[in-house]
Amino acid sequence: MILKAMVLKEVGRIELEELPEPEPGPNEVVVKVAYCGVCMTDIHIYNGSFPAKTPIILGHECSGIVSNIGKEVKQVEIGDHVAINPLISCGYCRYCLNGKAHLCENALAVGGAGKTIVNGAYAEYVKVPEKNVIKFDENVPLKYAALTEPLACAIHGIELAEIGLGDRVAIIGAGPMGLILTHLAVYKGASQVIVLDLKDERLEAARLMGASDIINPGKCSPEEVIKEITDNELVDIVIEAVGAPETVQDAFKYVKRGGRILIFGVSPRDALVNFSPFNIYFNELKIVGSYALTPDSFLKSAKLISKGRINFDHIITETYPLERLNEAIRKAEKGEGLKKLIKVH
Ligand SMILES: [Zn+2]
Ligand SMILES: [Zn+2]
Repeated sequence: MILKAMVLKEVGRIELEELPEPEPGPNEVVVKVAYCGVCMTDIHIYNGSFPAKTPIILGHECSGIVSNIGKEVKQVEIGDHVAINPLISCGYCRYCLNGKAHLCENALAVGGAGKTIVNGAYAEYVKVPEKNVIKFDENVPLKYAALTEPLACAIHGIELAEIGLGDRVAIIGAGPMGLILTHLAVYKGASQVIVLDLKDERLEAARLMGASDIINPGKCSPEEVIKEITDNELVDIVIEAVGAPETVQDAFKYVKRGGRILIFGVSPRDALVNFSPFNIYFNELKIVGSYALTPDSFLKSAKLISKGRINFDHIITETYPLERLNEAIRKAEKGEGLKKLIKVH
């Protein structure tokens, strides 16, 4: 059997190719890909700012139907609707044993960013270990199931942000992840979710996702506005969801004494930020990073999606066929629209 795949041949060049269909190992399953979300990670790898060995098939936010299973597979059957957790952990390193599988020393990333990347889901079929799929009822749209991974990353971040009832939260960046984080911050009981972005249409989407206040820093002094709308207190938690040193630095202006800053956005590897250690000491600030997803956040994400608790309709703006992946990546790079899905089957 032959499958079509969009293969990253080298930095900046993705081409349609025909390859043999993957054969599952004893504990692996092959998934006929339904949808795969386009993520900023794809763009970092495509541009070479995140190094990857080529040729490689990217795509790590995926749903589909199981089409083949290995001999030892027990929990999954052919025909099951599934989403894929693209982070394959080894299960025996000190991080895995410590419940931090996402920091696994021997991790493999299916089509996404990681030390070792294996072929992902911009293809008709993708192969993963049985333990990396989660089943969905057939009545859950596969379009939404494809976003189990990004939602799981946001859940992991929100849990690290430790939002309490009544807290004030500021979210810098209203891209697809910033919008999902907005939704979750509302669920966590924040009294105010203040969203900042330079694009008004993204701020409108943030409103629809439950933002209490929206700020375009291109049109005002965000620090002044945040003071005004928080009785001069500033916010308990700032979530940086842009991935730029400038916006990380801005976070220090919006956080109140005793507050937290969550670094969620992926800054360039070599970026540096100036900060005052005295400020962190004197104001007892907590700076927390959030990387990828955990098996637990993946499970929680699937539960929320299964029950229709996440409104993705304001986030998914376009769907493209597999052959038009290059176009979807170029638009994502320019920040046009929001979440792009590749519909494979
Ligand atoms: Zn992603
Ligand atoms: Zn491990």
